[in-house]
Amino acid sequence: MLQAILDMIYPVRCPVCGEILTPKGEKVCIPCREKLIFIQEPRCKKCSKPITQEEKEYCLDCEHKNYHFKKGYSIWVYDEIMRLSIAEFKYHNKREYAKFYIEEMVLGYGEQIHKFYPDVIAPIPLHRSKYSTRGYNQAEILARGLGNELHYPVLSHLLIRNKKTLPQKQLSDRDRLRNLKDAFEFNKKVADKFGKVIERVLLVDDIYTTGSTIEACTNVLLSHGVKEICFITLCIGKGF
Ligand SMILES: [Zn+2]
Ligand SMILES: [Zn+2]
Repeated sequence: MLQAILDMIYPVRCPVCGEILTPKGEKVCIPCREKLIFIQEPRCKKCSKPITQEEKEYCLDCEHKNYHFKKGYSIWVYDEIMRLSIAEFKYHNKREYAKFYIEEMVLGYGEQIHKFYPDVIAPIPLHRSKYSTRGYNQAEILARGLGNELHYPVLSHLLIRNKKTLPQKQLSDRDRLRNLKDAFEFNKKVADKFGKVIERVLLVDDIYTTGSTIEACTNVLLSHGVKEICFITLCIGKGF
């Protein structure tokens, strides 16, 4: 009864277009499901960005930069449809969208994550000032959901973002790295409290574009004894 009333007042909305979701029980409306572009082959063997030439192994970024993570996974291409969905999730408190995102992450890459067998899952952190205005870290919500579903411990504050950085979008490659250099810090307290050796970390974020954020976090982890880092994001840009 209560649920029926709640459903009337707050109907479940499609996490992609925001319209009221029918039929009940679906996670995403049918037209949206058809519009989403799932990452398929050919994709970069390292970061999983879609590439155009099947004979190529890596995307342009991975070909030219010596990124230190082991491998990355992503569900969808970062297009206009997903840009809007993630913007709602991230900036307009649509935290409930995570349910659909997490389910797709598990369906698409649960097996690969089990193969990697991370010691912990860690979200890309937000700077605390951003955290307090937004009220939540969208990457942390995803990491927690994944941890619950796949049964791995989640350390939300293994990494700390100690420097406010400029939005990466407007910057050149070199400035991106400079912008992010020293932006992240390893939280030794959290690692010590965890008590076990952390050799493999799965990083979680909402979007992967050039890879500089993941690379910056990877380097911090590597310099604190972590041996292998993989990542998973909801969306990834194209690699050509
Ligand atoms: Zn929809
Ligand atoms: Zn790549």
